[in-house]
Amino acid sequence: MKNNRLRITSNNLLFLFTIIALIGIYSCNQSKTTDKTNDNFEKLKIKFNIHTKSSDLLLKWFDNQSDTITKEIIEQPGTQIMAGVVENTLPQNELPTFFDELKNFSVNDSLKPDPYGLRLAWFQRDESSLLLNKIKEYNFQGEAVERIMPYIPTDYPLDVTCNVYFVLTGWEWGDAMVREITKTDNHYRVTEQGEPVIIVNLSIITKLYGDDIDKLLNDNISNTMSHELFHFVFAEYQKVSSFWKNNRDTTKIGQLVEIIQNEGIAHYISHNQKQNLIKNYNTSNELKEHEKKAFKQLDIAVKQLLNSELSEQEKDDILMKSNAGRYWDKFGAIAGKFMVYHIEKKYGEQAIKQSLSKGAYYFLELYNKVQSENPTLPILPKELKKRIKH
Ligand SMILES: [Zn+2]
Repeated sequence: MKNNRLRITSNNLLFLFTIIALIGIYSCNQSKTTDKTNDNFEKLKIKFNIHTKSSDLLLKWFDNQSDTITKEIIEQPGTQIMAGVVENTLPQNELPTFFDELKNFSVNDSLKPDPYGLRLAWFQRDESSLLLNKIKEYNFQGEAVERIMPYIPTDYPLDVTCNVYFVLTGWEWGDAMVREITKTDNHYRVTEQGEPVIIVNLSIITKLYGDDIDKLLNDNISNTMSHELFHFVFAEYQKVSSFWKNNRDTTKIGQLVEIIQNEGIAHYISHNQKQNLIKNYNTSNELKEHEKKAFKQLDIAVKQLLNSELSEQEKDDILMKSNAGRYWDKFGAIAGKFMVYHIEKKYGEQAIKQSLSKGAYYFLELYNKVQSENPTLPILPKELKKRIKH
């Protein structure tokens, strides 16, 4: 996901997806694979800064709602970024400030809207606190990085510092995301262009995935980090790559194609999907049904994006839906995930990595090649096929 004035109910969710699309939001034998991975470790350096202070303070505040702690919470970068995401997402005219929410907080007032998820944070505070303590000791250089490493192109060396904010409040659909921030007048704002950061809402994660803290850490947090880290590093790569600087298709179709590639790879390499597809694709009708459904929706979406009778708003909503909502309904991300699987199976990880250097249409071109040799696979929408070289 990416930032801008998105509103759940109104037009501006489109903006999010424009930005997602624009920023972004990746066979050989064993010894070769190892060499390539080592090569990537030299060319790609990732340093993590883990920020938890706004969460520590909020947990303290739940025990003692003093004005001093309230003031400290409001001053935290994590709080300001979290609030910035909510402000950019929900209609401003109905939105209280986070400070007001803290001042008027009441656990029992369940009918009152909870735009910053403060009440959820209160209900999840025990699990979140345990998870937060483990996160402080967790080695993010391990699996979370290893999953993305084989896919990041090495034609430009990257030395990135990844600021990760673990927060307890935020937009109800934003369990994890990459956003760009700018510090002005001593205040962190979420902006279209700035420094990318990863934000993870632990209250949503503990609510969605249960209370087994070790599982939450080693499975959900680790995989969520791989997904967002992929977007983060790929966005950094796009900023320095001359291909991406000069060959961006910013039309609606171009944005959709970028979502397919970017989200397809992020979904494939996280949450055990790579292993799941390798193990189960051939024997699972259910997976093939999800695949067919995603391609069918993709076909409809492409026609709609090219339909001059639809408004910009309607088209942006379509782009939004291609990567938002329930897991299997995100047709852009899901069709992309299956494409990654088929391309990698035929040409190896190297091909996916190459597609990140050569662009989203090259990614489609690779899938088209695989599909033309295996007609049982879903065909690309006609209008997308027309736009690729071969
Ligand atoms: Zn994503």
